[in-house]
Amino acid sequence: MLSLSQALLEHYDAQAPTYQTYPGFEQFKQAFGPRHYAQALEHRRQSVLTRLKPLSIYVHLPFCEKLCYFCNRDKIVTKRYSKTLAYLELIEQELKLQVEHLGGKPKISQLHLTGGTPTYLHESELESLDTILKSYTVFTPNIDMSLDIDPRTINNHGLAALHHLGFKRLNFGVQDCDVSVQRAVHRLQDFDAIQGLIEHSRVLGFECCSLELLYGLPKQTQRSFEATLSRVLELDSDRVKLTLYRHQPEHFSPQNKIKAQDLPSKLLALKLFNTALTTLNQAGYEYIGLDLFAKDGDPLSVAKRRGSLSRNFLGFGHQPHTDLMALGMSGVGSMGSTYSQNATTLEEYRLFLERKQLPVVKGCALSRDDLLRKSIIMTLMCQGHVSFDAIDEAYLIDFDAYFAQEMKQLRRLEAEGLVKLSAKSLDVTELGRILVRTIAAVFDRYWTPGLSSTV
Ligand code: SF4
Repeated sequence: MLSLSQALLEHYDAQAPTYQTYPGFEQFKQAFGPRHYAQALEHRRQSVLTRLKPLSIYVHLPFCEKLCYFCNRDKIVTKRYSKTLAYLELIEQELKLQVEHLGGKPKISQLHLTGGTPTYLHESELESLDTILKSYTVFTPNIDMSLDIDPRTINNHGLAALHHLGFKRLNFGVQDCDVSVQRAVHRLQDFDAIQGLIEHSRVLGFECCSLELLYGLPKQTQRSFEATLSRVLELDSDRVKLTLYRHQPEHFSPQNKIKAQDLPSKLLALKLFNTALTTLNQAGYEYIGLDLFAKDGDPLSVAKRRGSLSRNFLGFGHQPHTDLMALGMSGVGSMGSTYSQNATTLEEYRLFLERKQLPVVKGCALSRDDLLRKSIIMTLMCQGHVSFDAIDEAYLIDFDAYFAQEMKQLRRLEAEGLVKLSAKSLDVTELGRILVRTIAAVFDRYWTPGLSSTV
């Protein structure tokens, strides 16, 4: 049974990055702009290795009806629903520009809608988005289509429309079931309504329902969180995502509305994670890694056992790694050996597109060292096993010499039971899987322990 001891809980540095990207956002530079992203797209077009491979796309739909105080996303809270149509036109312009640089319609094997609140869009608008995407790309026959759902913005009819469009996976934002916690974060939602939606999504035949919970929220206590977990188990979802709330009001203004004195201590937040770990484990959920749990038989659980898990900006996946095209304001894409981020305000995003420019405001071209470290970090997160010979061959280095400093830190982590080292490999232990960010951070040349990351 997975669990952390009190000593490790105290030692655990929960501020280490989650490595949705490596390097993290802090390394994205404004010197990387539309021209560099266009080059990355054209490089893909010219490469025989990549141009026939399918892409993943995610679309950032920024609109929300109400503001949640814990929010750290780029969103627009408005009741002016007419804004969405103009936004879809911008999405179409951006996609058209990207596809021009790719030199033809790319194949798409994964599509994810996030936000904001994707289900803020009316059913007919989601259909329009589908039409736009299909006009400029080719969906593969078994395309994996998923979206994030704010349960307050959808009903059974809306679920049926999503199923009709081909969506297979639904991520419901639950966050916490306790009313005082919900009040403290300004997100009141009815448990019975969520339960009804999940039951109906099963009737409709969706392949996977995932629930998102946050721990470390204001007013959360050991008892309230245990009650939330037991309600979550009643929902019997296929996956549970458990994310630490990071209080960073200096970066995310809505968080200023959260009273610091209502927040659980760092130690309590970690105890809540530990409670979730044991509760979900006992209920039959397998720990996939970082923040994710899946039932036995779920594609993620199967991929984990086969050693074929992948990870990108959207999290863990069971399909092989693909380039990720981001559409919409603030979208973060990963194309070849680059990351790029779109303009984070609607005005700026629109201005770029009016000038017929790709709306990229910053990004990062990975150096050889970045690619090497990224490969090790993602392998640690997904497979938990790094072969030194394989790295030496792929990057023409001598692992021991190149990572002499890191090996010293790994030996310390070995003494703590987080990794096992041999002359030829590094393996993450069962305990180390829970603390894998700490292990991965050893290879992160940009991160300083004690500094919190926004990634
Ligand atoms: S948490 Fe989601 S629904 Fe709430 S304001 Fe942020 S993006 Fe909108």
